[in-house]
Amino acid sequence: MGKEPVRIKERDSQVRSGDFEEVVLGFSEEQALEEASRCIQCKDPKCVTGCPVGIDIKTFIGQITRKDYDGAYATIRAKSNFPSICGRVCPAEYQCRKACVFTKKNEPFASEKAINIHFLERFVGDHGARQGGRLAGPARSAGTPQQKVAVIGSGPAGLCCAGELAREGVRVVIFEALHKTGGVLRYGIPPFRLPRTILDAEIDQLQNLGVEIRTNTIVGKAKLIEELFAEGFSAVFLGLGAGTPSFLNIPGENLCNVYSANEFLTRVNLMSAHTFPQNHTPINVGEHIVVIGGGNTAMDAARVAIRLQKMRGIRLDTTISYRRTEVEMPARRLEIEHAKEEGVKFEFLVKPEAFTGDEKGFLKKLRSSRCALGEPDASGRRRPVVIPGSSFEVPCDTAIVAVGLGANKVLTSATPGLLTDKYGDVIVDSQTMETSIKGVFAGGDIVGGEGTVIEAMGMAKKAAAAILRYLARQAV
Ligand code: FAD
Ligand code: SF4
Repeated sequence: MGKEPVRIKERDSQVRSGDFEEVVLGFSEEQALEEASRCIQCKDPKCVTGCPVGIDIKTFIGQITRKDYDGAYATIRAKSNFPSICGRVCPAEYQCRKACVFTKKNEPFASEKAINIHFLERFVGDHGARQGGRLAGPARSAGTPQQKVAVIGSGPAGLCCAGELAREGVRVVIFEALHKTGGVLRYGIPPFRLPRTILDAEIDQLQNLGVEIRTNTIVGKAKLIEELFAEGFSAVFLGLGAGTPSFLNIPGENLCNVYSANEFLTRVNLMSAHTFPQNHTPINVGEHIVVIGGGNTAMDAARVAIRLQKMRGIRLDTTISYRRTEVEMPARRLEIEHAKEEGVKFEFLVKPEAFTGDEKGFLKKLRSSRCALGEPDASGRRRPVVIPGSSFEVPCDTAIVAVGLGANKVLTSATPGLLTDKYGDVIVDSQTMETSIKGVFAGGDIVGGEGTVIEAMGMAKKAAAAILRYLARQAV
C-alpha cells in the first residue's frame, strides 16, 4: 500500500560507536516532504489516539506537505512543549506509529510502512528551535497577578510545567537536586541520542521567560515544602521522577565494578567520566561487560559501555542479558537495532543467579540460568521460567544492572500528609494532578505510568492548567 518509507540517514556504525555525537541525522526538507506525502490523511486518524497527549498528527503532517512549517510547529506545541526532544526519544513504534493505518493488525509494534511520525515531528521541532522561541509565543506577563510557584525537579515534567506557568505570567522557581538541569534527559539519555544543544536551548528559552533555576537544592533536605509556602510560594509542583535503581538481590551484587545503570550513565552523561582524567570522575570498564535488562536504560548503558571500550582500545565485548526474548524487550526498536549495529551482543532467555569475584572483591564472573517462556504475567508478557540444571558461567569484569527504577523517597518521607502508594509513588487526582496536600501538584514518573518523556510532559501540562485555576481562586 502506497509509497516506500523514506529512510533517515544515520552515521556509520563503525565510526559512531567510538564517539558521543548524534547517531540519527534528521530529515532534510526534501525527505520530510516526501515522507509527509505518504500520509493518506485518514478520515478517522488512528495515529492521534496512539499519541499519549493527543497531538493532531494528521493536521501537522498536512501542514508539512503545504510547507507550512510554522503552522505545523504550532499544531504540535498545542499538545507537546518539546517537539525536538520528543521527536528524538518518543517510543513511536508503540504509540502513534503502531496506531497508524499502515501498521498491520496484531503486530506487537509499528510496521516498517507506518508513517515516520516521530522523524517528521523532529523535523518540525528543529525548525521551531531554529527560530529561538519565536514560534512558542510571548509570555502573557501584563495584567497577570505575580504569584509564585515552586517546581521541584527539572526533568521533562518540571520543565514543561514551569514553561506553561511562565507563559501565563506566573513567577516560577525550579529547585533541582543535581548541579545541572534536565533530569533523565541529561543524566540518563546519552548525547548520541539527544544532543545537549537541543536540551540547553529549551532550558534557555525557559530562562528567557523569567524562570529562575536553583540547582544543588534537595527539597525535603535543604528545604521543606511547608517552608516554601511560608516563603510566599502559592503552589508547588512535584516533578521528582523515579531515580532510585532496583537491584537483582543476588549474591555478589556488592562486588567492585557492579554498577546500577543509573550510576553508570550519570558518571558518563552528567560527570563526563568518558573524558577522565581531564574530568575528575572515573569509570571502570573491563574486557567483558554484561548489561542486565531489556529497556531503554539497558540499551543506553550498553551503547555507552561499548563506546568506552572502543575509546580505550579494549576489544569490544559488551552483552545485554535479558530474561525474555527480543519481542518482549520494552526498549525502543530503533535503539535495539542501533545497539546491534554498534557491536552489542544479546543473550536472550537468561536469568542472572550470582556474581563472583576475586580475593580483592573485584567482579570476575556471572552465573546465570537459561529460561523458557511460560504463562503471561501481570504485564501481559510471558513469564520467564528457569530451566532446571541449565546454569552456566561467563567471564564478566563489569556488570551494569538495568532492571528498573522506583520513586526516590527523600521528599515524600519528609512531607507529612503527602499520600503515596505501595511503590512510593505520589497519589494524585487524575483530573487535576493535585496531591493529598492542598496546593501541591505532581506529575511525571513520580506518579507512575508508562515512564516516558511525552507522558511526563502530558501530566505536567494538565497539572499546570490546574495550578492556574488554583491560583485564580487564591487571587479572589
Ligand atoms: P526525571 O527526568 O527523572 O527528572 C526528575 C528530576 O527531579 C531530576 O533532575 C532529579 O534530580 C530531581 N529531583 C528529584 N528529587 C528531588 C528533590 N527532592 N529536590 C530537588 N530535585 C529533585 N523515555 C522516553 O520517552 N524515551 C526514551 O528513549 C527514554 N529513555 C530513557 C533512558 C534512560 C536511561 C532512562 C532512565 C529513562 C528513559 N526514559 C525514556 C524515561 C523518561 O526519561 C522518563 O519517563 C522521564 O524523564 C520522566 O520525567 P520526570 O520529569 O518525571 O523525571
Ligand atoms: Fe497519516 Fe497514519 Fe495518521 Fe492516517 S493514521 S493520518 S496515514 S499518520
